[in-house]
Amino acid sequence: MSATRRILLVEDEKAIRNAVTAYLEKEGYWVSGVGDGAAALEAFDKQRFDLVVLDLMLPKVSGEDVCRALRDSSDVPIIMLTAKGELEDRVSGLELGADDYLIKPFSPRELVARVRALLRRANVAEEPLRDRLEYGRLVIDVSAHKVYLAEEELDLTASEFKLLATLARYPGRVYSRMELVEKVLGYDFMGYERTIDSHVKNLRAKLDDDSKNPTYIYTVHGVGYRFEAPASGGS
Ligand code: CA
Repeated sequence: MSATRRILLVEDEKAIRNAVTAYLEKEGYWVSGVGDGAAALEAFDKQRFDLVVLDLMLPKVSGEDVCRALRDSSDVPIIMLTAKGELEDRVSGLELGADDYLIKPFSPRELVARVRALLRRANVAEEPLRDRLEYGRLVIDVSAHKVYLAEEELDLTASEFKLLATLARYPGRVYSRMELVEKVLGYDFMGYERTIDSHVKNLRAKLDDDSKNPTYIYTVHGVGYRFEAPASGGS
């Protein structure tokens, strides 16, 4: 299991969510973004996170309530995001149990600095994502967005590349279709989980991977997909 730090980002404003996600991913963090408080609690229930970035004003379940609920069950570091004026005349984010807070508008660079400081304080080692993944004949150059199979460069679409890089980052980890939609296609495609199947199909064709006897991409029935590193010297 890699030591990449996993961040849950809870923010209903899509522009902010996308910008913050891009910034954190560039810094080597694994980010899962959700747009309301109920989805945040659900995600936290199902997956392990090292830190939560939590907007205060959220649909469905408010940031305050999410923060309290998380605190009831976990001491995960929480950074609260608040608009100017939302908090000062109420209770401070820190009193809600958050570890730190930022007033909007904030610079992504500032957020990254706070994230890093909190993770350090939480005494968690950080490890940057690897730039190059090599599995037998398959080489994924993540920063250059290139994939090679037996030294031949594959012609992948942007979605196929993201899908492969996402799966191959953590061999053996099972991804649900919903997670893959979120990571590969983006939040706008939530509800279109089946589109992942056609991307997988095309990707398998390019990898010369047989769905019944796969070398790389395995179907996990009723759930989604996982990547496996082929046995050394594998086909
Ligand atoms: Ca908000």
